[in-house]
Amino acid sequence: MKEQDLRRAIVSQCRQMNASGLNQGTSGNISARHEDVMLITPSATPYDSMTPADIAVMPLDRDDGSWSGPLKPSTEWPFHLAIMRARVDVGAIVHTHSTFATVLSMARRDIPACHYMIAAFGGPTIRCADYATYGTKALSDHALAALEGRNGCLLANHGQIAVGASLDKAMWLAAELETIARQYYHSLLIGGPVLLPDDEIERVRQGFSSYGLRDR
Ligand SMILES: [Zn+2]
Repeated sequence: MKEQDLRRAIVSQCRQMNASGLNQGTSGNISARHEDVMLITPSATPYDSMTPADIAVMPLDRDDGSWSGPLKPSTEWPFHLAIMRARVDVGAIVHTHSTFATVLSMARRDIPACHYMIAAFGGPTIRCADYATYGTKALSDHALAALEGRNGCLLANHGQIAVGASLDKAMWLAAELETIARQYYHSLLIGGPVLLPDDEIERVRQGFSSYGLRDR
């Protein structure tokens, strides 16, 4: 995808994220890999007035916070950059404070294999990363650990992160993560789910790799 198209796609996904209720206000943020840079939503900019030209650019070969653009990158750029640098399979990252993912993160609960769709995240759990202040290296380290072998995680007392090879896939997973968090939360209210065994999640995971999951 051309850089300009990717910038447009980021703006459009931000607006959709708020329209669908997956995010409120400017608390969420989105990044996407383009060649040797990361494009990332700017800090504290309402999505309605954000334009493709407002998206900030950060080089992937540096971790000192260097950026260019008319507006500063999101204050949560450290974990976006750390994930992009550590995970070559990741083309885009969606971070939101979506309600049910955040509710579980407040209780610091991993999401277990309560539904087969958890396999879309790469394994039988969606882990909850330890708490650290937003924007810190400690939070980046915790997020990377929770994302080991996974495409999504919760951030304690904060929200969720979903990653994918493409922006569409990361957005899809962010919505799926919120759905499974909502379903798990409700199952806890009636005594808790019966969990699926690891070998079943592995079978489903392998099935998904041929199913495609909206690869575009
Ligand atoms: Zn956040």
